[in-house]
Amino acid sequence: MDLYDVIVLGAGPPGENLAERVRAAGLSVAVVESELAGGECSYWACMPSKALLRPPTALAEARRLAGAREALTGDLDAAAVLGRRDAFAAHWDDSGQVDWIRSTGAEFVRGHGRIDGPCRVIVETPAGVQRLLTARHAVAVCTGSTAALPDLPGLPEALPWTNREGTGAREVPGRLAVVGGGPVAVELAYAWQALGADVTMLVRGGRLLERMEPFAGEHVAEGLREAGVDVRFGVSVGGVRRPDPEGEITLELDDGGQLVANQALFATGRRPRTDDIGLETVGLEPGAWLPVDDTLRVTGVSGDWLYAVGDVNHRALLTHQGKYQARIAGAAIAARAHGGTELDTARWGAHQATADRDAVTQVVFGVPEAAAVGLTVAEAEERGLRVRAVDFDLGRVSGAVLFADDYRGHARMVVDRERGVLVGATFVGPGVSELLHSASVAVVGEVPVERLWHAVPAYPTISEIWLRLLETWRDGEDGGGESGGAG
Ligand SMILES: Cc1cc2nc3c(=O)[nH]c(=O)nc-3n(C[C@H](O)[C@H](O)[C@H](O)COP(=O)(O)OP(=O)(O)OC[C@H]3O[C@@H](n4cnc5c(N)ncnc54)[C@H](O)[C@@H]3O)c2cc1C
Repeated sequence: MDLYDVIVLGAGPPGENLAERVRAAGLSVAVVESELAGGECSYWACMPSKALLRPPTALAEARRLAGAREALTGDLDAAAVLGRRDAFAAHWDDSGQVDWIRSTGAEFVRGHGRIDGPCRVIVETPAGVQRLLTARHAVAVCTGSTAALPDLPGLPEALPWTNREGTGAREVPGRLAVVGGGPVAVELAYAWQALGADVTMLVRGGRLLERMEPFAGEHVAEGLREAGVDVRFGVSVGGVRRPDPEGEITLELDDGGQLVANQALFATGRRPRTDDIGLETVGLEPGAWLPVDDTLRVTGVSGDWLYAVGDVNHRALLTHQGKYQARIAGAAIAARAHGGTELDTARWGAHQATADRDAVTQVVFGVPEAAAVGLTVAEAEERGLRVRAVDFDLGRVSGAVLFADDYRGHARMVVDRERGVLVGATFVGPGVSELLHSASVAVVGEVPVERLWHAVPAYPTISEIWLRLLETWRDGEDGGGESGGAG
């Protein structure tokens, strides 16, 4: 039997970070990983998708600048882009990540882990050997999520792409159908269209990026269409046919139509990887998301030993939010292990996650980019806040106009009128992703709007949007215009 202070199940970014945190607090830790250390993010999600997107984005931006445009004589080199993607996915070799985990002093255990009652994990190694690990203090489930496919006739046999093939494919399909309208669908539609595929997006609802302010999806849809993507709204797939797994795929649409393509990517949501991790041995339901408190401790399990960090708890399915949770959970586990019932923030660090609920940051890449933090107007109103939406056209900001000819974009800050602080911000336009952190600092710091006048943006940068938003806020306040909601 191997005894550790903490056992981490799953070595995605949150699992790795949690291990590092508890090691730094002097605890022993074993990290169990069934596939590749680094998780979905490193090999089939964030890294390869952004590596696919950056060359087309740079090219599209250069095409929008007179003087630079004239220097562009060729097309994107798809093979070179895919090769660069392979390098960013470390050629699907996790030895670098395993070395890093070991460098923290953690033990790395390759194999499929299953909880076997409180504080026990049985690992089935690739050699078929079973190894029992026991935790003195905590087991952290960091097993992430996987693509959720709709229950459609013919779909499993049709072998559709999920995010794995959508980020890892080695050849560009001639015609690609992309089902979905969220961030994964948007980014991969943009990337594969730029790489040479004819992409058709089938979106069930009426807009893209439904979790962001509506204008973000509108600008992104316009950008996709300009890039050549056929974006169709209000279309559901009712069935799929692919008699020859190597041949064309036919999507039967609810409106009676069909779409024939060489490949179909389903970006239709995520489900938790909890179906085969032994949850039933501690009274939890296999296959379910794991609800947690703000210290990332699983609720509904007695004792203080079970934590769930990253996608698996369903709070915010993003790498940086999972790593944030890992820092919080690491501090909480360390504090409790060292005997603290009252968690001592000064000693162990912050141990209550709030940003993954109140200040989630997200960027959707492409041209334009969409970047958001915190609450939309609709979300703020659902929480009962009396807010004012302050809007400004980014195409009227001098730094933006310099950034690209015919710059199109939009910004909104959502201000809590009672407290005079920002609760959310959304930017859409080329190059806006780097604006986001300024908004995050304002939201998390609860900086009074009036104080933001003293954060002077450099001229001429896109950040001058802050001045324009503040002027719009001031003019609205002077005019006394009560504009609760989206007004
Ligand atoms: C196409 C795409 C693009 C994305 N882009 C971004 C982005 O740009 N930025 C961003 O912040 N987020 C992005 N995300 C989201 C991001 O990938 C996830 O939020 C992140 O990977 C979650 O980390 P995780 O560790 O919770 O899960 P995962 O990364 O899925 O890692 C879980 C790990 O646990 C292992 N595991 C599972 N079960 C077991 C078991 N029983 N025993 C041992 N090991 C096990 C798995 O093999 C895996 O390595 C993207 C997602 C997709 C699909």
